[in-house]
Amino acid sequence: MFIAMVVYVIAALFGCFIFKASMTHFVDSELTTLTNELIPTIEVVDGHPTLRRWKKNVFKSPFRSLPMIQLYNAEGELIESYGPVGVPILFSRIANDKRDIQEESYHIRVHSVSLRAEQNLIGYLQLELSLKNVDGAITNFGRTMALIAPFLLIGFGLAGYFFSSKAARPVEESFLVLQRFIADASHELNTPISIIVANTESIEADEPENESVKARLKTILRSAERMSNLVGDLLLLAKMESANVLGTLTAVELDKVVRIVISDFSELFKAKSIELKEETIQPMQIHGDSESLKRLITNLLQNALKYTNKGGLVKISLVSSGNGALLIIFDNGVGISDENLPHIFDRFYRADPSRSRAAGGSGLGLSIVKAIVETHKGRINVESAPGTGTTFSIYLPLK
Ligand code: ADP
Repeated sequence: MFIAMVVYVIAALFGCFIFKASMTHFVDSELTTLTNELIPTIEVVDGHPTLRRWKKNVFKSPFRSLPMIQLYNAEGELIESYGPVGVPILFSRIANDKRDIQEESYHIRVHSVSLRAEQNLIGYLQLELSLKNVDGAITNFGRTMALIAPFLLIGFGLAGYFFSSKAARPVEESFLVLQRFIADASHELNTPISIIVANTESIEADEPENESVKARLKTILRSAERMSNLVGDLLLLAKMESANVLGTLTAVELDKVVRIVISDFSELFKAKSIELKEETIQPMQIHGDSESLKRLITNLLQNALKYTNKGGLVKISLVSSGNGALLIIFDNGVGISDENLPHIFDRFYRADPSRSRAAGGSGLGLSIVKAIVETHKGRINVESAPGTGTTFSIYLPLK
C-alpha cells in the first residue's frame, strides 16, 4: 500500500511536470508564430519601429489567446502597445529571448526580439502572454490528482488484496495438505516401528547365545530408534507449524525448565569432558508450552554437546530483556561457516553431514527450535565463527 502511494505521488508529480512543460510549449509556439507574422510588418519611421501597417491587417493564423504586443525604441522606452494591458517593462535586450516572469501580481511568458535596420539597433518587439490560465489549469490538474488519490489507493489496495489472496490460496492449500500428510504419515509410521522394535527385542531374547544374530539385531534396533526419532521430529514440526498449538499455551516457569534440562544433560557433558556452566538464571514466567520449551533447550544443548570438542565450554544464561526473556546458549565448539549459517534452520540441512549423522542428528533439530520460537512469538539469533564457537540467543515475550 505504501509503495502504491509513493508510486502514485511520483506519477502525479511527473504528470504535473509534463503538463506544465506541454502548456509552456503551447504558449511558446503561439508567441513564436505571432512574432514571425509581426516582424515583416514592422516599419521604421524616424529611426523608430512602428506597427501601424500591421494594424490594418488581420492575423493570418487563428490565435486562441491574445498576447500583449509592445514596441520599444533602442533605449528600451515603450513607444507602442497593442492588445490587452501588459507590463510596460522591457525584460530582455538579448537578440531573441523567451522567459517566465513571475511577480506578486502577475505571471507572464515573455518573448522579446531585437529589431535592426541596416545593422543598427532600432528597438525591440516584446510579446507578453499571461500564464494565469495555465497556472489555474496546473493547479486544477494537481487538485484532481489529489482528489482521486484516496479512491485509487483504496482500489489498488482492494485489487491487491483480492488478487494476492486468490494467488496465495492454492499455495496455502497445498501447504496444508502437505502438512497434514506429514503429520498423518508420521503418526502411521509409529505403529510399524514399534512392531519392528518389539519383534527385534523378542528375537534378541530368544537368541541370547548367538553373537552374530545379536550384532545384526542391534543394528536393526539402532536404525529403528533413529527412524522413530525422525518420525517424532517430523510429527512435532508438523504440529508446531499448525496454528492450533497456540491454544494450549499456559504459564511456564522458564528458569525451572532450563534447570531441568541442564540437570538432564550434566552427565552427558561430564562424559565428554565439556564444562556446562550455568550462568545467571533469573526466575521468569512466560506464556508458553512447557514441553516444547523443554524441547527447544534440549535441542540447543544437544547441538552444543555434539559440535563442541572434548575439554570445551558451554554456557547457558536466562535474563530478562525488555518485555521478555533472553536465553543465551554459548559454546566454544567447531562453529559454523558464513556460507552455512543462513541455512542451518532449514529442514534436513546439515553443515557437516558426516559429523551430524555420526552424532545421531537428523538435520531437523534447529527447524524444530525455530518453529517453537515462532509459536511463542519470539525471535532467534545465531552468531558463529568456525573454530571459535557458536552463540544462540532466543528472545521469548513474557505474554
Ligand atoms: P543436526 O541434527 O544435524 O544437528 P540441526 O538442525 O540441529 O541438525 O542443525 C543443523 C546444522 O547446524 C548441523 O548439522 C550443524 O552443522 C549446525 N549446527 C547447529 N548447532 C551447532 C553448534 N552449536 N555448533 C556448530 N554447528 C552447529
